[in-house]
Amino acid sequence: MPNRRRSLTRLPSLPTIAVEILRVFGDPDASIQKVADLVQADPAIASKLLKAANSSRYGLRREVADLRQAIVLLGKAKVTPLVLSFSLSIDLQESQESASHFKHFWLRSFVQASAGEVLGTLFGASIGAECFTINLLAGIGQLGLLNQDADKYIECVEQSEQGGRSLADIEREVYGATHHEISVDILEHSGLPLRCVDAINSLLPESAGQRLDAEMQRLADVTRVADAFARYLCDKDTGVALVVLQERLVMLNIGEMDVEKLTTAVRGKLDESARLFDIDPSSFPDPDELLEEALDQLADLTEMMHDESRAIPTELVAENGRLKMQVDELVKQTTTDVLTGTANRAFFDRRLKEMVHQCRRNDVQMGVAVVDIDHFKNVNDTYGHQAGDYILQQVARALDGVTRADETLARYGGEEFVVLLEDIVTEGMAIVGERIRSKIEGLDIVFEGTGIPITVSIGLCCGIPPDGEYGAKLFSHADAALYEAKQGGRNQAVCDTSLSSPSNACSTPSPQTDTAAAS
Ligand code: GH3
Ligand code: MG
Ligand code: MG
Repeated sequence: MPNRRRSLTRLPSLPTIAVEILRVFGDPDASIQKVADLVQADPAIASKLLKAANSSRYGLRREVADLRQAIVLLGKAKVTPLVLSFSLSIDLQESQESASHFKHFWLRSFVQASAGEVLGTLFGASIGAECFTINLLAGIGQLGLLNQDADKYIECVEQSEQGGRSLADIEREVYGATHHEISVDILEHSGLPLRCVDAINSLLPESAGQRLDAEMQRLADVTRVADAFARYLCDKDTGVALVVLQERLVMLNIGEMDVEKLTTAVRGKLDESARLFDIDPSSFPDPDELLEEALDQLADLTEMMHDESRAIPTELVAENGRLKMQVDELVKQTTTDVLTGTANRAFFDRRLKEMVHQCRRNDVQMGVAVVDIDHFKNVNDTYGHQAGDYILQQVARALDGVTRADETLARYGGEEFVVLLEDIVTEGMAIVGERIRSKIEGLDIVFEGTGIPITVSIGLCCGIPPDGEYGAKLFSHADAALYEAKQGGRNQAVCDTSLSSPSNACSTPSPQTDTAAAS
């Protein structure tokens, strides 16, 4: 354990009961009786513990009304994290200005603890419980600093959120130590088992590369993933946090666990524990919105990295740009459709929103074309799924060839593509529709020696966005037009002009209806 110097004259303090329960937890000889004495001295915690014992999460086989009995039945390993959680989730008065910061701290700690538990449990139930405790305590330095002087600490947090400097840098400047370092110091003094302190210590940059035995390494790795997860979910720099999280998850080497699964599992735990631990699950961010936010941030960062004059977060330039490469790769992976190499639906949805704002500002029309391959199910059934995949690739290539550089092409799903049209006049829609239709009809697709004729139907719509929600409306009108094109015999484009200005009728050159070979 490195011996650090701190400019803090005294360490922040924790609630008394938290310190005492940590002592008991760290002392293998301490009896469960001692735990019971401790808890009984604090009526608020005592009643919460009894409630927990009878809840579905910790549910004992029979109902218990007696506190001592509940503690004996639960056992020291389960009681300790519970008492710790209760003692740290201090009752807050909403009116207090700092209340939201305490709440945020508490949610973050609990998210990290739950992630630790989910991951630790993959290696065994007792490791899960230990990982919960470790991760509940990892950020305790932050609580200590908030308790000591809330305003001073909140200023640090706000400064890092606005100024782009890392919180750790600011903490070091103000306190001479980061909150993680302070956590380690507090916990070292509180008698927490050394292996738990060591696991938290692994979050400090100076401990990178330290050799640990296999069991310790696992605790440290879980803690590092859980910390990155809490950062991804609860901090402002979600983009960088996502990259760090993915990298740490890979290092943990538990194949089946990814960010999405971890998020779902933690969410389940939070819902389960909400009332017990004063957690408001509604403050848990929506996973889709979070990913979107992270990707937006990463896209900004990628731009930043190509602009020499701008400061890049130090984390990303470390180690010869390894993380930078990962950011590029991640952005590519999460915005590209694997089969066809075009943009994917997530990317399209983001561009659609952006374009709505852009066209609204500039007071110009934007348009959407929805392109759907005709009778594609028959094509699959007749020529096989591999032929189907090949056709999707060829159609994507052809569509790419007929879309302009300022138009966004994406595979929306299955055999459906979308094109976003910027600054389009109403009459232009028919031209775009026909350009696409004739291009696909004219393709000479040959798979394993067999020619496969393909046609598409297209629905289009355009208009000037009156509000930020316009994208969905435009899309649904284009989709309805596509339905009409299908009804009208396929291999044609139908334009919905109901949203356009001025409202000009739009007609497509007469198509040869329904000629798909497989129909
Ligand atoms: P319609 O003309 O009305 O659009 O008829 P359809 O058969 O094209 O439409 P439907 O929605 O009934 O079928 C779509 C088919 O697309 C079904 C599915 O097997 C196929 N499909 C979706 N994604 C893929 C893919 O990635 N590869 C392949 N080969 N087929 C796919
Ligand atoms: Mg189709
Ligand atoms: Mg379809």
